[in-house]
Amino acid sequence: MAHYDYIIAGSGCAGLSLLMRMVENENFSDKKILLVDRSPKNNNDRTWCFWEKENGFFEDIVFKKWDKLWFHADGYSSLKHIFPYKYKMIRGIDFYRHCFSRIARQKNITAIYQPVERIFNDDLEPCMIMGGDKVTAKYIFNSVQFEKPVLKRKEFYLLQHFAGWVIETKEGVFIPGEATLMDFTVTQKNGNAFAYILPFSSTKALIEYTLITDTLLQQKQYEEALYKYIDKKFSSLNYTIIEKEFGVIPMTNHVFPGAENNIIHIGTAGGQTKASSGYTFQFIQKQSEIIVESLSENKALSLVARKSRFDFYDSILLNVLATRKLSAEKIFQHLFRKNNITDIFNFLDNDSSLLQELKIIGSLPVLPFLRAGVQQLF
Ligand SMILES: Cc1cc2nc3c(=O)[nH]c(=O)nc-3n(C[C@H](O)[C@H](O)[C@H](O)COP(=O)(O)OP(=O)(O)OC[C@H]3O[C@@H](n4cnc5c(N)ncnc54)[C@H](O)[C@@H]3O)c2cc1C
Repeated sequence: MAHYDYIIAGSGCAGLSLLMRMVENENFSDKKILLVDRSPKNNNDRTWCFWEKENGFFEDIVFKKWDKLWFHADGYSSLKHIFPYKYKMIRGIDFYRHCFSRIARQKNITAIYQPVERIFNDDLEPCMIMGGDKVTAKYIFNSVQFEKPVLKRKEFYLLQHFAGWVIETKEGVFIPGEATLMDFTVTQKNGNAFAYILPFSSTKALIEYTLITDTLLQQKQYEEALYKYIDKKFSSLNYTIIEKEFGVIPMTNHVFPGAENNIIHIGTAGGQTKASSGYTFQFIQKQSEIIVESLSENKALSLVARKSRFDFYDSILLNVLATRKLSAEKIFQHLFRKNNITDIFNFLDNDSSLLQELKIIGSLPVLPFLRAGVQQLF
């Protein structure tokens, strides 16, 4: 039976973010590491956007960054300067290529492609079953979600689902330095929805139609909404669709297990997706940093300390959306009208002070949030 120091199950964002930090740290050069995924990462299956003040660990592969972001809602439009932050985008394919070309030079890492069937503790030793064989390790870092979580009372599971196109135009219509973070003037007939626009140049942009609802739409409904939005926004623009993207991010206040003895759950499977926003990339980076630091200093493996008050805020927002106490358009309009965008970023990063949070909470309509808060508490 094969035994490793570390097994990393899943070579997506979380698995590779963790492994790349191990590769860059000499304390791991003699560790035997197994990386396993059901299939090679050959496709540009997603793009990650996030805000950041400094250069990040993956700065070399940032595809595009913006320092101004538009917010649009019914009767309100504003261009926000986000200094000292930048809004950054990393393309999935660049991320996978960058990581795998570095990993290929490491003799201590074995990468294999096979579905993982099970991960469990056997007499406290972490074990993994793949292809019917049992493999063990000192630690298993797991980013595979084997099944949808079973929800408890007061837990919600909404879907942030989106379809988008990279489009190219003949004449320049986009302002390359200005992205659109949220545009609620898109059709709301399918539920809470917004569009976003990420221009790569004056003639090329990624435009996404995003919904926060409990069920998916049919493909043609996303496409219809995208056609209409682009038509309205850029008045009968001629364009070519050069790439398509579709994605679903779960937005849930379900409590995922962080660790089960030496099985450590990472990424979305480890609860790193922010329930109220779907943003995950930066939470994964923080979690990876903490894990590698703890391991390399032989400290007890401490995970990202979750701040319970942020989980509570997330639950309240999910409650408001899931029970339709208020539309997303109204909520975000209040937020963006009355707060600095940098304070909102800080809040969404779970890094704000109690004083900042009181100001942000105070900018929202009292009744629906109070009712949701009471329902979540009792
Ligand atoms: C289309 C899309 C766009 C997103 N955009 C953003 C964004 O802009 N900003 C942001 O912060 N977050 C974004 N997210 C959310 C989040 O950042 C990503 O989902 C991120 O990839 C999560 O990382 P992960 O490692 O947890 O999961 P994944 O990256 O999905 O990795 C899990 C890996 O496990 C593998 N796997 C699954 N089952 C098995 C099995 N049985 N055996 C072996 N391997 C298996 C999969 O092949 C995959 O490689 C987006 C998500 C999607 C889907």
